[in-house]
Amino acid sequence: MTSRRTTRSSLNSNRPNPPPPSNTRHIECPVPTCSHNLRLGQAQTIQRHLRDRHTSIELQCIPTSFYTSADIHKCPICPTNSLSLHKTPQSLSRHLSSKHEASTRNALNSEIILSRLPPPAINAEEVKQNWIKTLRYLHSTNITPFAFRKSVYHLLDNNSKREIQNLANLVYIVTNTANLPHVDTRQRFIPTHELSASPLWKLTL
Ligand SMILES: [Zn+2]
Ligand SMILES: [Zn+2]
Repeated sequence: MTSRRTTRSSLNSNRPNPPPPSNTRHIECPVPTCSHNLRLGQAQTIQRHLRDRHTSIELQCIPTSFYTSADIHKCPICPTNSLSLHKTPQSLSRHLSSKHEASTRNALNSEIILSRLPPPAINAEEVKQNWIKTLRYLHSTNITPFAFRKSVYHLLDNNSKREIQNLANLVYIVTNTANLPHVDTRQRFIPTHELSASPLWKLTL
């Protein structure tokens, strides 16, 4: 029994690797000089192949569409020489929050604003819609500081000054948060006025 197994095993080892089944469960390595077939969705196997067999320069040339076609999720922050691939959006999300928490954001601009400036509960939805309209307006409007400005700040009473200081502080916090690169694992369309920090920077002018 044992010898028969050994014989069959040694015979198999002499045969060339059988070609992968020609179905949609495999995808060819995206590096043009490599014809290795990779199994869809196997993030760790694909990551090992790309890291071990290919140079950073080769990896930089891989289009983002490859990872979508391979049914895996690539960390958009990790550099190419420490490529980080994930099987599910949840796994990528856990990676992002544990490794890059301070360097990315996944909230939209309107969500960042509302988290700092909570609207009155009675018309929360209306306030949210107004902020979305405002962001759209700020995004499409070219606003620059006036050439000459005279401040009336010093004429205000102390309470008004404090309110302005608090509001200015919140605007800077919101703007700095929006300035972090946006990362979204849900693969959905998001308009630019919700992703770019530019509309919020205009509030500081
Ligand atoms: Zn390859
Ligand atoms: Zn990463």
